[in-house]
Amino acid sequence: MHTVATALERVLATVAPFPAESLPLAAVQGLALAENVDSRIDSPPFDKALMDGFAVRSADLPDGAGRLRVVEQITAGQVAALPVGPGEAIQIMTGAPLPVGADCVVKIEDTRLEGDEVVIAARPLQDGVNISRQGSAMRSGDRVLAAGVVLRPPQLAALAELGWPQVPVRRRPTLAVLATGDELVPVDQTPGPGQIRNSNETMLVAQAAQSGCASRTLGIARDVRAELGAKILDGLTADILVLSGGVSAGKLDLVPSELTAAGVEEVFHGVAMKPGKPLWFGVRQGDISRNACYVFGLPGNPVSSMVCFELFVRSAIRRLMGISPAEPQPVSAVFEGEYTFRGDRPTYHPARLTWTAGGPRVALVSWQGSSDLRATVDANAMACLPAIERTYRTGDVMDVLSWD
Ligand code: AMP
Ligand code: MG
Repeated sequence: MHTVATALERVLATVAPFPAESLPLAAVQGLALAENVDSRIDSPPFDKALMDGFAVRSADLPDGAGRLRVVEQITAGQVAALPVGPGEAIQIMTGAPLPVGADCVVKIEDTRLEGDEVVIAARPLQDGVNISRQGSAMRSGDRVLAAGVVLRPPQLAALAELGWPQVPVRRRPTLAVLATGDELVPVDQTPGPGQIRNSNETMLVAQAAQSGCASRTLGIARDVRAELGAKILDGLTADILVLSGGVSAGKLDLVPSELTAAGVEEVFHGVAMKPGKPLWFGVRQGDISRNACYVFGLPGNPVSSMVCFELFVRSAIRRLMGISPAEPQPVSAVFEGEYTFRGDRPTYHPARLTWTAGGPRVALVSWQGSSDLRATVDANAMACLPAIERTYRTGDVMDVLSWD
């Protein structure tokens, strides 16, 4: 049986990133950049005033006070026609290029206009005060964005500044969700004897949305081969098919054999972890006429499904989109409480992660195991507990994966 690490390696080795395509800047938020972006400009592109005030020669005002002749006035977007000569100043607004001859800007609050002269009473000035030098934020040739970065507002703004109206990215995957089980009824129905509502579908759709991909629901497949097989064929048209239930060793656990019958090659079945041990993963290879489809058979217990999605499906989505790193990124958090762990498999325990002034802290929520969805309502993360018998006490550090 695979460890979590080797299972994740197999998933990431199997899933090939989508080809890069060029999309308008306005349409790429949340996607990963497919190429490195080096600056083709200096920023700022010229020595630039950071304040409204007067561009002066600091040597004219050795102790910060004096009277200068105002020879011109410029606002942002204008370039001074005149240089600033000895004894002169140019009135300047934030964002305007520093005129030739000037080496600093006196802010307007430290000045008073008298006719065509400005009376200055500032603190001692130096070269460079209240200006931003050309190229001080970035120089032409600098690596500004690395391939794989997710495009959020700062990165989008940087692409705009650098002049990228079209951006190389990889598209979002489509995902199909198929719940399996004779006992399941839709959310809007009252379960009869032995029945429960299909909560996994709602959860998986929401997890997919949180991971940046749209999903399609295929409804509930009974544990009947023909029905399951037909819905699987429909689901294989998506980039990722996520099934829940039917992958363990029960009499009606038909999912692995129906997937194989539909042409999905098994990559692995079973991972040493808790919850989520029966996880099944495979691929239906693509060719010129059809897409590749990556298929996850998640165990039906809700917390198993949730945890397997977070660890494996989300990583596959990130790989397809070219997000780097694709692997889950745990944070080290300081544990609060006392908990004795005795599992023989690494365990992903619902937890509450908080960010404090002293760093991330984590507490475990009370949890009965893989079917206890209720516990996850109080959680926002999962603590990763290695398969070592151990008592955790306040102050111990543990790895935690955030669900946000
Ligand atoms: P299975 O993996 O099919 O053996 O299911 C394991 C457990 O998860 C059983 O108790 C199922 O009733 C439950 N289960 C399976 N599918 C779902 C679902 N879509 N929503 C909620 N619980 C489910
Ligand atoms: Mg079942």
